[in-house]
Amino acid sequence: MPDDTGDHYKPFFEVYGAHTTDEHRPSLNETLQSATDKSNHKLLIAVKVRAVIRCSECLRNRCVYAPSKLSTSQMAAFIRVQEDNSYICGQPLFPCNHEFHSDVVVRQAVACTSPMETTYYSATTVSFEACCFYCGVQDSLLNDDYITSLRSQYSVVRPLCKMCRDSGKEAKTWGQSKMKKLRCKVPPGQY
Ligand SMILES: [Zn+2]
Ligand SMILES: [Zn+2]
Repeated sequence: MPDDTGDHYKPFFEVYGAHTTDEHRPSLNETLQSATDKSNHKLLIAVKVRAVIRCSECLRNRCVYAPSKLSTSQMAAFIRVQEDNSYICGQPLFPCNHEFHSDVVVRQAVACTSPMETTYYSATTVSFEACCFYCGVQDSLLNDDYITSLRSQYSVVRPLCKMCRDSGKEAKTWGQSKMKKLRCKVPPGQY
């Protein structure tokens, strides 16, 4: 439980017996989901993204990770899940007793309210359609002065759709200014 400053944890005796709201207590399901992600942490990285699976509820594409390119039988099993069109954020891609359950995985600590995974954009062995960082739609992505100006300031500017912008969201950015980065790349003596 975070204390009033938000970045420390209260000692146990203060938490024990204190009124805990659901806000502070992850559900059993969430705990299991995070534990699964933790044990898969070596797989849940951009270079291990092999495909995407669309959530049947929120319609966002979630990354599918595997140690190497999907084998013919893994691909066939994956396509069956895709065609089923019943995958929902937070679920495993394959059920526990499935032969590929621990070989072909998705991030599980993800809900239908979660934005896109950053690995969607940084996948190296496959590339996907640009889509809004927040809602995942692929059309009505902004390419206006706002985005252009951000692009000149940050090395990464995630796509943002008009609806999300209209609802008050800012484009997700990070990284140092492109100008600074370029300057750093020039070897000394070449000015
Ligand atoms: Zn979803
Ligand atoms: Zn959006």
